[in-house]
Amino acid sequence: MSIWKEESFEDKIYDEVESFFNIHELKEEDETLALDIIDILRDKNILVVEKDDNNYGYLIPLLYASKGKENFKGFLISTATISLQNKLKEEIDKLSKLIDVDIPVTIAKGHVNYVCMKRLEKYLRSHQENKTLNEISRKIEEEMIDKEDYPNISNEIWTNININGESCKKCLYKDECKYYLNRKSWPSAKYVLCTHELLVASLKRKDNPMFKDPSILIVDEASILKEKVSNSYEGYITKNMLKSIINEISYIIGDKELGEEIVNIIETFYDKLGTLIKSKYMSGDNNYKIYSKEVINTLKEDILLLFNSLSNFRKELGFYQKSDDLTYLKKLLKKYTNILYDMIGKGSKHIYYFHFQPNSKNSISIKYGRKDICSLTASLFANNKYGKVFTDSNIVDNDDYKAFIESLGLDKIDDMEIVKEYSLDKSKVKK
Ligand code: SF4
Repeated sequence: MSIWKEESFEDKIYDEVESFFNIHELKEEDETLALDIIDILRDKNILVVEKDDNNYGYLIPLLYASKGKENFKGFLISTATISLQNKLKEEIDKLSKLIDVDIPVTIAKGHVNYVCMKRLEKYLRSHQENKTLNEISRKIEEEMIDKEDYPNISNEIWTNININGESCKKCLYKDECKYYLNRKSWPSAKYVLCTHELLVASLKRKDNPMFKDPSILIVDEASILKEKVSNSYEGYITKNMLKSIINEISYIIGDKELGEEIVNIIETFYDKLGTLIKSKYMSGDNNYKIYSKEVINTLKEDILLLFNSLSNFRKELGFYQKSDDLTYLKKLLKKYTNILYDMIGKGSKHIYYFHFQPNSKNSISIKYGRKDICSLTASLFANNKYGKVFTDSNIVDNDDYKAFIESLGLDKIDDMEIVKEYSLDKSKVKK
């Protein structure tokens, strides 16, 4: 049964929103958007709409929906930047007072935006004289762990003390770590402002999402969403990554010799790749991104040799006693072996390119991304239990709408109708 019928406030919320716009003399376009948002909440469809910097058009109906309507499951608003999240939070606080509703908003940002106390402690041990670090230590005691609390911090210090790769599960600070505790609250939060990266990460974790299903999802500045989805499926393989997996496995099983031959094959392969790229595709000392099927074809036999060697190495590990670390490394090896097979096999799922950075430790990376981003994106948004609104300031005419909808594969979603597509300037939309 629809939550709107159960609560029988269908008419009430339209009236509430209309009267708010009348009293406060807000823009007509925003009122039209606000009423369409209520339709989307009720019918759980998709709305694609041009929107300027003003967010009142969708915030006002969301706040009224939150007011005393127990079956409203909340909203999830995804934005392109952290500053947009902050702006929305300010607007929600301001409107909440006018509407007289209490909205405890959760701001979800990527972990790299917070201080990790474990890393800070480690870094402090070797940098005790650093005044900035001492100031950070003082502020941490006041629970200030957000990067925004340290506007003048250098990139060098920040990248040594932010959350990045430490295991929280075994951390001594986890009962007091503000980030860890906040992160644990995300799956039950009712009103969430997240970044596009976190939205995509959550939607990809179908069985264990970071955020619960809301009553409505708003994706603001949605034209960059496809890029975020694409980035989330990208990966890379470097020489050092492969070598360190082999070396770690050899150490765990206590058989150094088993890994030696394969490490030589990895070295030879990457040397050949480097020589080929330098001789045929480069003209200077710059960073290069080379999309070339020709590179793969030229090195097909070498890729096959590397693939076979890694596969055989993996098979031989079956004779050794299992441990969590070994299982994890075998899994990782399988992933990279499959990528090598996909590179030279027919009907590859990926696009490949070779990234050459002359002055870095891993000078050549094999990078890969998915070809079927459109259908992958559509599958992320195919959940028909809640309405979805995609807004962007660049969608100003019918061609923009068509391109936008097709780029995200929204037209491929069954059971969800794209009910309205319009520009704030109606004259631009052909009937
Ligand atoms: S719980 Fe995680 S984020 Fe927090 S201090 Fe420990 S390792 Fe760092």
